[in-house]
Amino acid sequence: MEILLRSALMLTEHPLCNPCLGRQFALLGYGTENENRGDAIKLLLTMKGHQTMISEDNDGVALLKIVASNGSYDLAIGLLTRLGENADPENSCFLCEGKFKEIDKVTEKILRKLKNYEFKTFLIGVELPLKIAEQEDEFKARFSVTHGESMKSQFSRDIGKRVSQLIDKKVDYKNPDLVILINPFTNKTRLQINPLYIAGRYRKLVRGIPQSRWLCGDCIGEGCEKCNWTGKKYQESIEGLIGNPMLEVAEGKEITLHGSGREDVDARMLGSGRPFVLEIKEPRRRILDLQKLEQTINKRAKGKIEIHKLCFTNKNMVRRLKKMESAEKVYRTVIEFGCEISDGELERVEKALSNSTIYQQTPNRVLHRRADLTREKHIYKAKIKRLAPNRAEMQIHCQGGLYIKELVTGDEGRTKPSVKDILDIEAMPLHLDVLSVVIGKEEK
Ligand SMILES: [Zn+2]
Ligand SMILES: [Zn+2]
Repeated sequence: MEILLRSALMLTEHPLCNPCLGRQFALLGYGTENENRGDAIKLLLTMKGHQTMISEDNDGVALLKIVASNGSYDLAIGLLTRLGENADPENSCFLCEGKFKEIDKVTEKILRKLKNYEFKTFLIGVELPLKIAEQEDEFKARFSVTHGESMKSQFSRDIGKRVSQLIDKKVDYKNPDLVILINPFTNKTRLQINPLYIAGRYRKLVRGIPQSRWLCGDCIGEGCEKCNWTGKKYQESIEGLIGNPMLEVAEGKEITLHGSGREDVDARMLGSGRPFVLEIKEPRRRILDLQKLEQTINKRAKGKIEIHKLCFTNKNMVRRLKKMESAEKVYRTVIEFGCEISDGELERVEKALSNSTIYQQTPNRVLHRRADLTREKHIYKAKIKRLAPNRAEMQIHCQGGLYIKELVTGDEGRTKPSVKDILDIEAMPLHLDVLSVVIGKEEK
């Protein structure tokens, strides 16, 4: 069925505004709006009606009346009036109930809401009442519409364009800073402020600071005598030291630190540091001076931690960080033995561990939070240097995820082999430092 005939049938049964009529043919012709498609169809129908009327066919007047009332088309109304015919009152659109005419009002409302937020990109999400969506589906089926688009996508595109023009921000389908959810029928709008992600690396220069907030085990955050009414087991965390200054300047609600793995509370993180992403929820500010922020954080956390290489990133980086947990690491630990040890014994440990596979059952100390299973981890290289008759420093370059303390103590036989096993002498790790997190070629 050709476009004009089909459109005349649609209008005969239902009042339709220009955008809603044009939308039924949205996939025909590029570079124009549905509103223009609808207008062009109604213009042609008006011309056709006029032509039919001139040849003294009453069908012409009937067609003009349909375009005038059900199409609310001014040209047809004007023509009828000039010809001394009555035009019926205009009817509001069967599909959108006239909501496409109110887009400017909706846009204004959105702009008022956006005022308090700094952002670069956004996305419009449209929610339609079920009744409206079903009605359009039935309409499409009834008139065999095959080249149309959905009302939802037209609303989001039209509103998105309007907002974009007025405030000079870009629509981003993948990682928008804000999502504006609109129901044009109830006039409700909702803002979804997406988190801000800032990546960097941290070095931890002292022992005794956990990576993330650690609540007091007795009161679980409430505050009690044991934690001096702070609710925390450790007063500071890397998350807080990095995140709090960020939270302040971004005027956000909450922070989460995503690390590429974590070191023990009593281990330092040295070398070029551990990659992290700090997530700031619901930030009002996004255009931050990262250099200045880096300086502020480093100044406030002086002597405790140090960060560098801050840059903006997105949520995909968090996923990549988690994958990087298995990145190779270089550790250094100081071991105290139960008795004096010979150079030959130290050499034996070095040889036994270099280029070896360690079978490590989940350590006793983390069993409460990790599944009990045996992991196979590779050690590329072990280097041992004597410090005292019963003390040595060991450097281990290994696959990520190997627990170093247990590699020394053997963890009651759960880690095999271990330094204790190899020598059959008690061995205790005194300090642990992470010297390097080796990031693969695909990472920066
Ligand atoms: Zn409409
Ligand atoms: Zn407490």
